[in-house]
Amino acid sequence: MGGLRYLEHGWLRLVREALIEREVMLRMAPHLIRPMRFVLPSEPGRRPAWMLRLGLFVYDHLGGRQILPPARALDLANDPLGAPLNGRYQWGFEYSDCFADDARLVVLAAVDAAERGAVIRTRTRCIRAERGAVWRLMLETRGRRDLATARILVNATGPWLKLFVSRVLGDRAAAPARLDKGSHIVVRRLFEHDRGYIVQTRDRRVVFALPFERDFTLIGTTDQSFAGDPSDVKPAADEIAYLCAVTNEHFRASVSPVDVVWSFAGVRALYDDGSRKAQDVSRDYVLVLDEPHREAPLLTVYGGKITTYRRLAEQAVDPRCAYRESRTCMDQGVASSRWRLPLRWHRGARSEHAQVAAVLERGACAAPPARLWHAGRARARAGSELGRARALHRRRPHGGRGALFGGAGMGAERG
Ligand SMILES: Cc1cc2nc3c(=O)[nH]c(=O)nc-3n(C[C@H](O)[C@H](O)[C@H](O)COP(=O)(O)OP(=O)(O)OC[C@H]3O[C@@H](n4cnc5c(N)ncnc54)[C@H](O)[C@@H]3O)c2cc1C
Repeated sequence: MGGLRYLEHGWLRLVREALIEREVMLRMAPHLIRPMRFVLPSEPGRRPAWMLRLGLFVYDHLGGRQILPPARALDLANDPLGAPLNGRYQWGFEYSDCFADDARLVVLAAVDAAERGAVIRTRTRCIRAERGAVWRLMLETRGRRDLATARILVNATGPWLKLFVSRVLGDRAAAPARLDKGSHIVVRRLFEHDRGYIVQTRDRRVVFALPFERDFTLIGTTDQSFAGDPSDVKPAADEIAYLCAVTNEHFRASVSPVDVVWSFAGVRALYDDGSRKAQDVSRDYVLVLDEPHREAPLLTVYGGKITTYRRLAEQAVDPRCAYRESRTCMDQGVASSRWRLPLRWHRGARSEHAQVAAVLERGACAAPPARLWHAGRARARAGSELGRARALHRRRPHGGRGALFGGAGMGAERG
């Protein structure tokens, strides 16, 4: 979440901001952001031990860490955390980071915005945007079209940024975006405990292996240039083979592409800073304001991390930043306290979650505890949902799975 590996690129501002935000998000949504300890083995011939130690020291101190425990050295030859690894590792480190349920976080952000007056239109695509004193937008929702106007347009379409510029804005000038694909694989779990591993690859990258949905291990990512429509992005066979090879190089368990139970890929739209390799392009966000005379402004969002989404949004709505004369608003760190985004999602979430799980458990259903936990997580904002769950339980005391999972699915839609 904080981005330890970005330190070696010298992206201190990004890492500091991410580490500060990591703690903010842990307080804000502890039901969606989970602390996780990572094991980083030290490997002969890769980054020297002093570099790892220094990097972790900086990582521990750069962002004013308060909640998470600090890094520590590990004797991997004797520590049980070394057991899943190949025998060649003698020692390494363990450090703190977090795992975020990104899908739930997005739903919660949208629900929160709606409660504060935003109009959220899901399954709605902007298919044309014409500029004048205001923007005139053609929107399409499930085949139905309607018009909207806007004083400012923000292109925050992420991987679709370039397509939005060419197809929707009709601008032939190339946006300075670089599309970078990252693929992941999921295999049956490689280890029993709840730590993640981060291993160093021959090509000077790092690959993580994380406990995932209880019974699995999530392994990623790759870094490949991408062109085309991000809607169709899939891991390529060579990326799956690469992730299997990295796993086999570092872990005792052996995996091959046939052991992959699920794989998925994502595309990052990074600001093209002229770097040659995809892994060297900054992951920092860049806001570019285009404000021609007498025409409505266009703000384009490049790059960014989930961890820093609040800061990005604060800067995007900060008049001192986004709406000033300059065209590029980068590296400013001026997010105004006036625009601070909410910090109160967590209120009661944990207890609601526990209550929901308890209610569902009493429903005499045969669901295993993990399913109940997921149902509870899906209902983490669930004051009213809890009432519904109780009503369902009263109506169908032996309803079992039908009552439980029908309700949980609807809860998931609503956040
Ligand atoms: C492989 C990979 C690994 C990553 N790992 C991390 C990590 O460990 N930590 C971290 O913090 N971040 C990570 N990120 C970055 C993180 O995923 C992104 O920063 C984040 O998803 C960007 O959010 P976004 O809202 O800008 O874009 P998106 O989440 O992609 O949203 C863009 C939205 O625009 C919509 N859209 C597109 N075109 C139109 C249109 N014409 N009209 C209306 N809507 C449109 C799309 O439907 C989509 O919903 C990773 C990214 C990738 C690809």
